[in-house]
Amino acid sequence: MSKKHLGRLSGMIEQWLEELMSSYNLDSFEAKNSYTAQIHLRGNLFQKLIWWALKSLPDEILIGMDVDPNSPHNQEVEEFFRSEQNVDGLFQSQGYCISEAHIVNRGNSFSVHHLPEDWTDDIFSSSRGSRAGRFTHWLHTHPNAPAIPSEADADAAQETQGVDMILGLRFSPEGPLPWFDAVEGVRRILGDEAKPIKSEKPKRRWFGSNKDLQVIGIAPSGHKIHEIQLIAFHKSGLAVNVILIDDDGFPYGWEKIKSIHTSNS
Ligand SMILES: [Zn+2]
Repeated sequence: MSKKHLGRLSGMIEQWLEELMSSYNLDSFEAKNSYTAQIHLRGNLFQKLIWWALKSLPDEILIGMDVDPNSPHNQEVEEFFRSEQNVDGLFQSQGYCISEAHIVNRGNSFSVHHLPEDWTDDIFSSSRGSRAGRFTHWLHTHPNAPAIPSEADADAAQETQGVDMILGLRFSPEGPLPWFDAVEGVRRILGDEAKPIKSEKPKRRWFGSNKDLQVIGIAPSGHKIHEIQLIAFHKSGLAVNVILIDDDGFPYGWEKIKSIHTSNS
């Protein structure tokens, strides 16, 4: 049975983002054996997270995420991306797609992790029903900084039952947040690292400034996006592989990734 995607319930996904998600998934596949587990995140939700992050500037935002108990990972995909080091039962709700997200807090890199005391009382009672408890997974943003956990991030992750994710964005105009690059750690970039626009006449004066960086996409907030990074990790520090999936549970770029894999084997 063929299905048409007309952006129905989920809203349209930007073409450029779809391409970046395909390339990210290919990287995820090729690096699968360096991960201990995988988690599937819907592309329409991922796009929403990027828009929220940029709309909330200059703050970082903390997002609580839950799985859909009726949406286990597609088994064919799960099998395809399974690591030789795979551990079942590493975290809560492992094996289920992330399908729900709520902004829970905003602040700086420290305060963003400190939730208001009454945060479960009113804000979520209607949307989260009787379970209005803690979320399974968490994501927070790093505006104009790489998606690499700080010490505060690692501390906050100790309370997490599922996984912690970090979304790093490089964008302009920078506002009060110039790109901060001095962080050690493994980066997972969607597509390529931000690079200067190739120009016949290099403008020496502005070389290296965001004015000259290639733009991968424009957000509804008007920001030019130069680079997107996304990582997930378990509180033990183990990295979790993120697979960005469409409404039917298949990774963006699925056919291409399978064909590359098949021709290699
Ligand atoms: Zn952080």
